[in-house]
Amino acid sequence: MEKRMTESELLGNFREAIENEYIFVVYQPQINHSTGRMIGAEALVRWKDPENGMQFPSDFIPVLENNGLIFDTDIHVFEMVCKFQRKCLDEGMGLIPISVNMSRFDIYDHNYVEQIEEIRKKYDIPVKYLRIEITESSAIGGIELVSDVLDKLHELGYLVEMDDFGSGYSSLNILKDLDVDIIKLDMTFLSGNIGGRGGTILSSMVNMARWLKTPVIAEGVETMTQADYMNSIGCNYIQGYLYYKPLREEEFIKEISVLNHEPTVSDMSLIDTIEAGKFWNPESMETLIFSNYVGAAAVFSYDSRDESVEVLRVNKKYIKEVGMGRSEKEIISSDPWENQDEKDRKLFMDTVKKAIESGEEEVCEHWRTVCTEMCGVEKICVRSSIRIIGRTENRYLFYTMVRNITAEKKQYNELYNSERRFRFASEQANVYAWEYDIATKRMRPCYRCMRDLGLPPLLENYPEPAIDAGIFPQDYADMYRGWHKKLEEGVDHLEAIIPLTIGRVPFHVRYTTEFDENGKPLKAYGSATMVVEDEENPEGNPEENPEN
Ligand code: C2E
Ligand code: CA
Ligand code: CA
Repeated sequence: MEKRMTESELLGNFREAIENEYIFVVYQPQINHSTGRMIGAEALVRWKDPENGMQFPSDFIPVLENNGLIFDTDIHVFEMVCKFQRKCLDEGMGLIPISVNMSRFDIYDHNYVEQIEEIRKKYDIPVKYLRIEITESSAIGGIELVSDVLDKLHELGYLVEMDDFGSGYSSLNILKDLDVDIIKLDMTFLSGNIGGRGGTILSSMVNMARWLKTPVIAEGVETMTQADYMNSIGCNYIQGYLYYKPLREEEFIKEISVLNHEPTVSDMSLIDTIEAGKFWNPESMETLIFSNYVGAAAVFSYDSRDESVEVLRVNKKYIKEVGMGRSEKEIISSDPWENQDEKDRKLFMDTVKKAIESGEEEVCEHWRTVCTEMCGVEKICVRSSIRIIGRTENRYLFYTMVRNITAEKKQYNELYNSERRFRFASEQANVYAWEYDIATKRMRPCYRCMRDLGLPPLLENYPEPAIDAGIFPQDYADMYRGWHKKLEEGVDHLEAIIPLTIGRVPFHVRYTTEFDENGKPLKAYGSATMVVEDEENPEGNPEENPEN
């Protein structure tokens, strides 16, 4: 009967299990979802104990790893796979590539590569029918050991797969540091979440992989929805219960003979000036420049079919400049168009299109709304210099340098506004102008008002200070207060002739109201123009109630 073996039983039975092939291999096919053809298979270890029945990897692998026995297990599995391939060759069957798992502990055993190579030669299997799966966690002890093994495997012609990509949190870094040939994305790490953030992370990983020209296999695919989703984001290769559970050798042979197979080839190539892959190679000049010498920069892709944009890579300075407290992962997985104004989106897209046409650097300034847990919603103005660095049929890759120009922009706007006021005031020598904020009852006088009437730059509770100062004489005080009530009620224009100051000099006083998009009055712009002798037909009779 089936019984989970204890650690000491496992250790005690191990040698015998290897010799008698109680430890054996099952095969899980990998399928091209678009064509239904088999592109490979993964060898998975099983242990069927004569007394205790089937044991699963999750139970015995940790024990073997902790007791230094995983290396022998992996070598045993590799040999069984070679034997299997030899049998297929001898029987004249079509061979398909089989991937073998390499434990992260095998990395510390310096002759893993030599040993498997010896076995491969013994059975005389062409290297293209054997692949090695390494896991992200192999890099825990440092990237150097893994990349040494990877180089050795590559020299001998083995293709290497990155297993469980997306499980560790350093995934994006691993990809740029390790030059793997195939990436395996595990769906179970993102279960139930493909519609939301998980889906966005998946699609940006697939995107990045495609720019690296690295095929992606989605693992753990159980439903058609998952398979179709992966297909829609450009990942056609699938390994999972949807198609096959791991199969015993005999069943697997049957499937090989009925299914066509095809090679795993990437469907995209970069035809433009620079090699995008260099961006992920830590030693390349591009990376050096990207992370150290340029300012805030990002790499993004654009799909002309649905005008979608995805951020693929950002450097540290980018995070500092426009990240607003978000992490690299948050920036990459967020939808860049969420919460943005259509106008700003259009401006950006037009610049992207211009950059495609010209092949030159194109610049735009646009406002972006950034939502973060830390800062809430914030509007920032960004200057982006965009340049195309790669293209395929419908997809384009861009390099962008960004600068957060929010502060400059605000300063400029303020300067522009106050300049506009002052220019307005001084251009007409006898015009006094001011701005009245309806909600706060604050008044900002023009430069001339300040100079000639001795007003401070900001008056609270307007118009009371002007009445107190005698600028508006007492007999006009109530009328003038009435005007401000009307402004509050939403009148759009007011004017009258009013004698101002103790000299009672007649001025043509006007107000024009500015409204917000909901029709709510925001500000009123006031002006007072001295009435000159020849001003025709002054409309307002001060003694009457002034209406527009
Ligand atoms: P892995 O390399 O990620 O293998 C894939 C695992 O997912 C396998 O579990 C497979 O049976 C399972 N799987 C496949 N399709 C689906 C699906 O649609 N849904 C779900 N939920 N699971 C699916 P298995 O065979 O139990 O292996 C577990 C792990 O044990 C493997 O994960 C691998 O890390 C390790 N392992 C298996 N064989 C070997 C080996 O020969 N050597 C070493 N070092 N590790 C091995
Ligand atoms: Ca694996
Ligand atoms: Ca896996």
